[in-house]
Amino acid sequence: MTSCYRCGRSKSSVTDALEQLAWTSERSRDGAVQWLCHVCSKAHARDIEGKLPAEYW
Ligand SMILES: [Zn+2]
Repeated sequence: MTSCYRCGRSKSSVTDALEQLAWTSERSRDGAVQWLCHVCSKAHARDIEGKLPAEYW
């Protein structure tokens, strides 16, 4: 079962197709695939791309 590694939300609990599409996976150093839900992906992307100008968002 796929679930978000930050908040623990399970992907099967998300019923909106667009929200399911917004889930992202990343591979950790030990090779395990970790999933981020649509909410955490958004927050995470802001962390990564925080150097972009604010008006970009
Ligand atoms: Zn999450």
